[in-house]
Amino acid sequence: MAAVFPQLRSLLYRPWALAMLAALASALLLFAASFALIMHQVQLSERQQMNASGERFLVRLEQVFGQLREGVDALQAQPVRHCGPQMMDALEKIGFDNRFVFEAAFIDGAQRCSNRRGKDVASLGRPPDIQGSTYSYWLNTTTQRNDNWAALMLGRGPFRVSTSRGHLSDVVDLPAGGSLLVVLDQGRRAIPVLGSEQPWPPASGWRADAVDALQVTSDRLIYRMSTKSPDFQLVLIAPRSKELPLFNTPLWLLFPVSLVVALCIGWLVLQLITQRRSMGGELHGALRRGELQVLYQPIFDLSNRRCVGAEALVRWRRPDGTLTSPELFIPLAEHSGQIRQITDFVLQQSLEQLSHLLRANPHLYISVNLAACDVTVPRIGEVVARLLSIYRVAPEQIAFEVTERSLIDVDVARENLQALRDVGHTVLIDDFGTGYCSLAYLQSLPVDCLKIDKAFIDALGDDVESSGVAPHIIRMAHALDLRVIAEGIEHEAQALLLESEGVDYGQGWLFAQALNARQFKELITKGRRRAGRRAGDEA
Ligand code: C2E
Ligand code: MG
Ligand code: MG
Repeated sequence: MAAVFPQLRSLLYRPWALAMLAALASALLLFAASFALIMHQVQLSERQQMNASGERFLVRLEQVFGQLREGVDALQAQPVRHCGPQMMDALEKIGFDNRFVFEAAFIDGAQRCSNRRGKDVASLGRPPDIQGSTYSYWLNTTTQRNDNWAALMLGRGPFRVSTSRGHLSDVVDLPAGGSLLVVLDQGRRAIPVLGSEQPWPPASGWRADAVDALQVTSDRLIYRMSTKSPDFQLVLIAPRSKELPLFNTPLWLLFPVSLVVALCIGWLVLQLITQRRSMGGELHGALRRGELQVLYQPIFDLSNRRCVGAEALVRWRRPDGTLTSPELFIPLAEHSGQIRQITDFVLQQSLEQLSHLLRANPHLYISVNLAACDVTVPRIGEVVARLLSIYRVAPEQIAFEVTERSLIDVDVARENLQALRDVGHTVLIDDFGTGYCSLAYLQSLPVDCLKIDKAFIDALGDDVESSGVAPHIIRMAHALDLRVIAEGIEHEAQALLLESEGVDYGQGWLFAQALNARQFKELITKGRRRAGRRAGDEA
């Protein structure tokens, strides 16, 4: 068993294995989603079909019932009440006039006559199945195989009018294997008048007064139709197809599409992994080949718009001239451990390029980003102390930025950050608000300054009320006696609003993008000259 894990792990490290896994997982997911969608669609169309045929049946059955009622009413209205030629004329007329009437009969004690002349079937000896206030109904079940047996018979006084099962099946196009039942006694009893017999009740939980007229079980659709008569309802039962009707809908195309999408996902994963792997390898040599460079994004005092320092931001310029974003290679370097070399490189470059400027401007500082592994060991303190003594720069002129996410082991980080502060470095929390720093947690951290993430600056409206989170962060920072830097300021309105809220410093494309060392030095020296000239003018 123990041998299986290393094998599994080495398999998972192979790009193609991961890509296949991703393709398989997405194929399964997409297939399941497609299947669910198709089944939902099939059920929906089954419902629609059943609703439509149910309504069609009802209209036709009402026509049949209507003719039977008219027939029996006409017989009741005529005066003759004994069998004889007049009665036979009346009964035959009803048969002729109404297409759906199979038989019209007069039954009064011993007297029985019918338009069927001796082949009468209407003289059922049993009491009616439904005894309404005006009409009585006899229903013949489908167990009586003769198609001419009256399937439905209506009675009023001594008269009976019936339709045959043949007539009934002419008007009702029952689906194959389906049944039409007349349901009596509030759903307790059902008589099948067309189609095969059915167990009753048709499904567990079936109710004659359920809101939903259609009940779907695994093998049947049960559709309940209320009639104009309160004494009975009609129920149509149709079997569901046993085969999965997956290919009866154009949605089956979702399966090949899912397969293609899954393959694309697998291919993308493969590309990403190989790109990441090869980027990891390339990054290894990038430092050696001098492809990394450091840019400086100026930071300004919002009250007088003077540059107070800069953030050192690393760039990777490939030999073909393309720039790779630090957002891509920094996480990779953090993962591989190369980030230590990058941090050292940024520190070394910043001091090598700007030590002169820093010595000439003792209030200017450079802010360097630290990664999680830089704050878990005291190493960085030693590196910076050595470089500061070589370039003769004060520790106050190097600040360190740590993100909330990089403070994994808070106790160790607290100790190392405190050591940096003790020698005079400033410590900032970068991208503040995007991590998990609570107020209590923040209070316990040895930091001097919060850097509000660009996302909150983007959300700034024209007034404080509509500005979301940033004003709360500012107030919280002030309450904890921390300075505030806003990053990603792109508009003057944002700068003015932040300044009015008491934000001390700002950084963003409104003021300057990241500059190379020469451009940054020019910005500082020009600013100094301008300030010098202003001082001269005033004098
Ligand atoms: P960060 O430390 O929060 O750096 C700020 C990022 O916002 C920089 O992106 C900067 O160019 C960008 N930015 C500043 N002002 C504006 C603005 O007004 N508009 C817009 N759209 N963007 C603005 P960059 O240089 O691409 O750096 C991205 C992230 O990479 C940094 O976020 C930091 O987390 C990391 N990073 C960069 N250099 C280093 C480094 O030397 N060491 C470490 N550990 N991480 C670094
Ligand atoms: Mg930063
Ligand atoms: Mg940031």
